Amino acid sequence: MDTKLRNETALAGDAALALPLGDASPAESALVARWRRAVEYGTADARNRRREHLFYAAVKQGGALAALVWIALRPTGMVEWSGFAVFYVLNILGMSLGYHRYFTHKAFETSLPMRYALGALAQFGTYGSLRRWCADHRRHHTFPDAPGDIHSPHVDNRGRPLSGAPGIKHAHLGWAYDDCTTNMALYGKGIVGDPVIEWAHRTRYVWFAVSVVVAPALWGWAFGGPRAILGTVMVAGFLRGALALHAIAAVNSFGHCFGYQNFAVGDTSRNNLLLGYLTLGEGWHNNHHAHSRAASNHVRWWEIDMTAWLIRALEAVGLVWNVQWGTQHRPFHRNRR
Ligand SMILES: [Zn+2]
Ligand SMILES: [Zn+2]
Repeated sequence: MDTKLRNETALAGDAALALPLGDASPAESALVARWRRAVEYGTADARNRRREHLFYAAVKQGGALAALVWIALRPTGMVEWSGFAVFYVLNILGMSLGYHRYFTHKAFETSLPMRYALGALAQFGTYGSLRRWCADHRRHHTFPDAPGDIHSPHVDNRGRPLSGAPGIKHAHLGWAYDDCTTNMALYGKGIVGDPVIEWAHRTRYVWFAVSVVVAPALWGWAFGGPRAILGTVMVAGFLRGALALHAIAAVNSFGHCFGYQNFAVGDTSRNNLLLGYLTLGEGWHNNHHAHSRAASNHVRWWEIDMTAWLIRALEAVGLVWNVQWGTQHRPFHRNRR
């Protein structure tokens, strides 16, 4: 985190905690009032979100531990691991293509049936309510690494500076268990009331069950018979769900700490080689912060974005259009740090 950013964070955080707004300078008051409006504390929705994410974490991570024991004691093979690969890719695409690039950033337009398909795919990614996620992510881009950011490793949800392991923990998954939520009246415009997003939100537990249990069980049954069902649920359901969860969460935590920047965007977003490949392009996170509406995060030759390949294929067959391919290669945007 650079010195200027740290000073701004500390100033705003201290001001928010210690100063009645009347004692702050007009500039401080405006800064603090802006992010305070963005966050709501102690809401029922925060309690619901905490319960929901604890449930997800318990199922995925408890199941993943059981899967490790299973793998140690029982032979696993092509059926289980091919299921792992297929559902891992679908899980990550749910996040990259569904939650993130389409529903939040509107990187392309598409038809109503495709919107429903993308809504189902997003919730197949099992990262909580699509409605809530879109609003939360808008807040991340509005206040990146500053007070008001929902999951920065450098500032908490009350505007206090963070660093080291506590910062990583908060940005990784800790934010989901916090007692505050995004002001939906401000950040939910165009999201709340959208019939597809509301449908995805209402049916998210169904998609969770499909993703973690039903689809892997069907895969195991189809390719290995009844005896392969349980092992495939273990490997391609629980273990895959836990690893995909942490790969995605790492973009928020490690992706704001470790890696390099192509663009001087004024926040700590990083391109991270490992995350770039593990998340099918989401880990080129500095490129994304520089061009957040872009359908592709690809800038340098090694920054391969497999999600963008899929968008290009969907565009080629006419399933999506008005794709925001962006101008990431324009050299005057390049930061040489
Ligand atoms: Zn970010
Ligand atoms: Zn984004």
